[in-house]
Amino acid sequence: MVDVEGQEYLDYIGSWGAMILGHAHPEITQALHKAVDAGTSYGAPVETEVELAEEIIRRVPSIEKVRLVNSGTEATMSAIRLARAATNREVIIKFAGGYHGHADSFLIQAGSGAATFSLPDSPGVTRGAAKDTRIAQFNDLSSVQQIFDQEGQSIAAVILEPVAGNMGVVPPVEGFLPGLRALCNRYGALLIFDEVMTGFRVAPGGAQELYSVSPDLTTFGKIIGGGLPVGAYGGQRELMCLVAPEGPVYQAGTLSGNPLAMTAGLTTLRLLTNDVYKKLEMRSCALHEGIVELSKMLGMESIVQRVGSMLTLFFTAKPVLNFTDAAGCDHEKFRAFFNSMLNKGVHLPPSGYEAWFLSLSHDESVIERTLTVIAEAFREIA
Ligand code: PMP
Repeated sequence: MVDVEGQEYLDYIGSWGAMILGHAHPEITQALHKAVDAGTSYGAPVETEVELAEEIIRRVPSIEKVRLVNSGTEATMSAIRLARAATNREVIIKFAGGYHGHADSFLIQAGSGAATFSLPDSPGVTRGAAKDTRIAQFNDLSSVQQIFDQEGQSIAAVILEPVAGNMGVVPPVEGFLPGLRALCNRYGALLIFDEVMTGFRVAPGGAQELYSVSPDLTTFGKIIGGGLPVGAYGGQRELMCLVAPEGPVYQAGTLSGNPLAMTAGLTTLRLLTNDVYKKLEMRSCALHEGIVELSKMLGMESIVQRVGSMLTLFFTAKPVLNFTDAAGCDHEKFRAFFNSMLNKGVHLPPSGYEAWFLSLSHDESVIERTLTVIAEAFREIA
């Protein structure tokens, strides 16, 4: 990345995870040029929309039918509406530090920027909108069980990032995702995996493939738009058939299935071969292990948590299992580290509550350069 002053950066934000193949990938740019020449929006389905939908369904077995929208936020808010309609219940459970876009019902103990700017419960969200959202602790099944015990018959859905990314990377502990699946089954609630970040990143079929847990509904964004605005939600045919015009649950969008976004997304998915995932894993692992080694060598109290090509460096001595742990890390130190890295040409997410994203452009030499800069930054902030 190059800024207005001509300073070059190694970028670990990558449009918050969308750019898994790197910026301006030649095949995507080429495909986009062609798509632009054919027209940019019709308000009618285009072939690439169907092809992208088919590609998503092929890779994610829990999805039989999928609806394309314009952002992750639209995907999650539509999925919740569908879950409420399907169950005829109103309450949803989310997790502290979980971020699902900026729709009102999710801006309660939210992660990502909402946590960074100390706005986890945004003003402007009405009591009415907030009253149907319950908060549980990530990786703590008993906190979910407790809510089900109290009002199990009112819970429409449990929504979560199966690998949390918006409080920094927090993998699910063993048994957490299957436990949620079992609780939802027992109480007749839907399990929604928000894979806007993890979808097509942590494995070809997302976190649900990696952990072998099948949700009822899944939301996507980021990678399936290849750097253009997109979102999607999908699940079993029976559920998705409730969405208008086939069913009564209304949802629509002027620019949904936009030909440019569909082209960039489809080209990206087709380029994401097993070989690409192997490369991403190897290089992410090298960065991960390199940071751990430097921490030890330089006496830096820090840990790295990683799933595939998303990772977070936390300034703490013990594993981060939930938002309370994430909030307890040394965020002052992270700020100093971030600024030191930026001054040396490495563009990290500007908060300890975020994931760093690797792309195919982060080759061995980029990882090596990054580790050299991290060593310098560690010495500077020690
Ligand atoms: N869900 C998750 C897990 C996300 O990470 C994000 C965005 N960071 C969203 C939803 C919202 O997506 P968008 O910004 O495209 O609305």
